[in-house]
Amino acid sequence: MVLADLGKRINSAVNSALSNSQDDYVTTVDVMLKTIVTALLESDVNIKLVFSLRNNIRTKLLDVKSRSTNNAQTKKLIQKTVFDELCNLVDGETEPFQPKKRKQNVIMFVGLQGSGKTTSCTKLAVYYSKRGFKVGLVCADTFRAGAFDQLKQNAIKARIPFYGSYTETNPVKVAAEGVAKFKKEKFEVIIVDTSGRHRQEEELFQEMVEISQVVKPNQTIMVLDASIGQAAEQQSKAFKDSSDFGAIILTKMDGHAKGGGAISAVAATKTPIIFIGTGEHVHDFEKFSPKSFVSKLLG
Ligand code: GDP
Repeated sequence: MVLADLGKRINSAVNSALSNSQDDYVTTVDVMLKTIVTALLESDVNIKLVFSLRNNIRTKLLDVKSRSTNNAQTKKLIQKTVFDELCNLVDGETEPFQPKKRKQNVIMFVGLQGSGKTTSCTKLAVYYSKRGFKVGLVCADTFRAGAFDQLKQNAIKARIPFYGSYTETNPVKVAAEGVAKFKKEKFEVIIVDTSGRHRQEEELFQEMVEISQVVKPNQTIMVLDASIGQAAEQQSKAFKDSSDFGAIILTKMDGHAKGGGAISAVAATKTPIIFIGTGEHVHDFEKFSPKSFVSKLLG
C-alpha cells in the first residue's frame, strides 16, 4: 500500500466510527487510531515513530478543550491533527543552507549508487545557475566506470562547466583539484559528486570523510531514493555518522514510493529534505514543502 491511501483510510475509519453512535468518544478515537497506525506501518514508517505519532494525536484529540460534540467538527479536528503531526515529522529541525552570491559555496553529494546522485547534482546545478550563480560540477567518482562520462554528458546538455579525470584513480585528489580549479576561477557554487557503490561499505564512508576533509563543503547533501522503504532510516543514519550531511534530496517521487521511509529518514537524522526529484529530466525537480508533501501522501 502506498501512503497516499492513508487519507482515504482515515476518512472511512472516521466516518464509520462516527456513525456508530453507541461508541463513546474515546472508543471512537482509539478505533480510528488503530487504522492510522496500521496504515503508517504498512507505508514503511518506523514503528517507534508511529507510536509516538499515535500518542501525540491521541493526547490532542482527548484534550477536553478541543473535543467537539459535532461529528463534522470532530472529523475536521482528526484530519487536521493527523496532517499537522505528519508535517512535524518531515519538517527537519534545522534551517537548510543557502549559497551566497560572490562567495565560493562548495556542496558535496553523498548517497548510494543508483539513488539518483549524479542526476540530482545536475538538477541542483541548473537550479542555481538559473538563479544567477556561476556553477561548476566536479566528478569525484573514480570507482564506477562511466561515472565521469555520465556527469559530463549531463553537464554538457545543461551547459554547466565540469571537471573530472579519466586517468586519476584517487577520488580525493580529483575532488581537491576540481574544487581548487573552480575556486580559482571564482565559481560561486561548486558541486562535488562522489562515489556511491552498492552497499554501505567501510571504504565508502572512509572516502566520504577524506573528500570532505579536502573540499571542506559548506553543505553536504544526501540523496535518498524514496522507494527504498524501511532501509531509508538505517542508510541515512550510516551516512549521517560518516558525512554529517545537512540536507536530503529525495528522488524518484514520481514512482510508486511508499513515502514512509523518507519520513523515518528525516526523523532519524533531524535533517530537512530540501528538494524532491520527480523524474529523470533535469527540470523534474521541486523545492520540498512539508505541507504539500503530506497533502500528496494523504491523497
Ligand atoms: P547515482 O548512481 O546515484 O549517481 O544515480 P543516477 O543519477 O545515475 O540515477 C540512477 C537512475 O535513476 C537513472 O536512470 C536516473 O535517470 C534515475 N533517476 C534519478 N532521479 C530520478 C527521479 O527523480 N525520478 C525518476 N523516475 N528517475 C530518476
